[in-house]
Amino acid sequence: MNQHFINGRYVAGQTGETIAKLAPATGEEFARIACGNAADIDAAVKAAHAAFEGAWGKLTAAERGRLISKLGLRLQDHFEELARLEARDTGKPMAQARADIDATARYFEFYGGAADKVHGHVIPFLNGYSVSVVHEPHGVTGHILPWNYPAQMFGRSLTASLAMGNAVVLKPAEDACATAFRLAELASEVGFPDGAINIVAGRGHEAGAALSSHPGIAFMSFTGSPEVGKMVQHACADHLIPCTLELGGKSPQIVFDDADFDAAVPIVCKAIVQNTGQTCSAGSRVLVQKSVYDAFVGAVAQQFSKLRAGTPEMDLDCGPVINAKQRGRVQSFIDQAREQGIPVLAEGQIAQGVPNGGFFVTPTLFGQVPRGNRLEQEEVFGPVLSAFSFEDEEDAIKLANSTDYGLVAAVWTKDGGRQQRVSRRVRAGQVFINGYGAGGGIELPFGGTGKSGHGREKGFIALEEFAVTKTIVHKHG
Ligand code: NAD
Repeated sequence: MNQHFINGRYVAGQTGETIAKLAPATGEEFARIACGNAADIDAAVKAAHAAFEGAWGKLTAAERGRLISKLGLRLQDHFEELARLEARDTGKPMAQARADIDATARYFEFYGGAADKVHGHVIPFLNGYSVSVVHEPHGVTGHILPWNYPAQMFGRSLTASLAMGNAVVLKPAEDACATAFRLAELASEVGFPDGAINIVAGRGHEAGAALSSHPGIAFMSFTGSPEVGKMVQHACADHLIPCTLELGGKSPQIVFDDADFDAAVPIVCKAIVQNTGQTCSAGSRVLVQKSVYDAFVGAVAQQFSKLRAGTPEMDLDCGPVINAKQRGRVQSFIDQAREQGIPVLAEGQIAQGVPNGGFFVTPTLFGQVPRGNRLEQEEVFGPVLSAFSFEDEEDAIKLANSTDYGLVAAVWTKDGGRQQRVSRRVRAGQVFINGYGAGGGIELPFGGTGKSGHGREKGFIALEEFAVTKTIVHKHG
């Protein structure tokens, strides 16, 4: 991991500088990450261009699809190895790591199969003309990814771009990049031409900034925080290139008085606990109709108090968070809310025997959170659930739309009219009715509005993002 992967092989960084990688479950260093700079990025972009103009660019869509599918099959041979790498890097429970590798395989299956199904269309025009619309690759796409689901993000962001025929350069998160490198190695083994996939490790303000401002990049796909998303979009504006921004969320679960409690309670808990709350689409706010607030939130509290956090091997409900900074951030939300007198309705436990140096936080449920509070407005990115009450449908929508974010929402009600009305008026890129899938569904277009970003990933729609649409007008008489 203390090297970059450029042009189909590991290469040393230009500076030789490395960054310590700590295991979140122990706080101990177990690896060094190469600290890439602008020269490393430049080498990766050049390799990607050579692949795009050469062996990779010459493949047919079906050939590209077959390679992506092969990578999915090869992943199955290394399933447990990849899950263990992911768990060690991120601290996530083994069950979550296995679910992530499974989802990564689904991305390869989906985009492997989709590569040769991006059909253009024909437009009836004036007599004597034929007009066709085709989708072509941008060229070289840049990808900057976060640490919460490194393997899945590789599947989601890179694979869709590769399926369209682009060559890619990835700057993974400095806090978790092991599976990205392993997947790139496996891609080479199954026959991806050199330079189709390139990875430069390193810090955001160095390698990340160099990638997003490189003139050889034709499209940027960024997943991360709104603050960095703005910088990436500025860098793209300087070159007039498009980008997708997949940013954070403060996603509401709206529970009406006629909701099926038995179905809703476990899913409301899972939606925030999954990946220790470090999911952009975590259901971090539960909004409950006043008349059933005590009963519903009481049932959630019962489940919440049973939650336990432990090491990946303990395989409990939660793991540690990614690093000391993130633990400090999550803890500051909890401490401040307590100081403000916001009632703690339930707390999970940190399991006995976890290493002292691990970055663990206690899963916490806050009740009757005042509107406008930081817990309503800001993304915690940890296992902290905030409960709010509302009067009626109008008030529920107002509360759901009270943040600048708009990523995912859930509506829990048996009333068909209300299901439709609320899901249409709530501001979000995805709405679940009587269910929730934080990050789930490879086939489903996913992305945000407002502070949650713009552009769509997943599903067929992502292929269009990674393509340039060209209209060919043929006057033939
Ligand atoms: P981050 O924005 O700090 O980092 C994300 C990536 O950007 C990292 O690879 C980092 O090195 C890089 N980066 C940092 N500074 C940069 C710069 N100046 N120029 C270019 N790149 C730079 O986010 P994080 O802390 O790694 O992840 C947490 C955030 O990501 C949360 O806000 C979360 O909601 C969001 N997220 C969103 C989604 C989504 O799909 N919407 C998915 C996962 C995470």
